[in-house]
Amino acid sequence: MIDDPQRVSGAVRGDLLIVADPDGAHRWRFVPDLGTAKSWLLLDECPDCTALVPISRIATRADLGAYRDTDDPSDGSPDEFYTDPAHHPDCGLAAHS
Ligand SMILES: [Zn+2]
Repeated sequence: MIDDPQRVSGAVRGDLLIVADPDGAHRWRFVPDLGTAKSWLLLDECPDCTALVPISRIATRADLGAYRDTDDPSDGSPDEFYTDPAHHPDCGLAAHS
């Protein structure tokens, strides 16, 4: 577990959890889902701007498997995907305020 350099909640940096695949081919990055203690938000590349953003809510290994098999990674993304500060300024998927 290391500090998340992108997301700060309050005065402390958010936690960032990195999990390596058993085959070592992919390292999955998660940040805590602030709405519930039971799930995490998976960080992966935004399909539009390739920034590392919270793209899927993951509670079980089956959720991760389903995400891995999907054709459109942004399909069904949580609100945090659209509002994440890591999106590039010209990203077409981010909700710019
Ligand atoms: Zn983006």
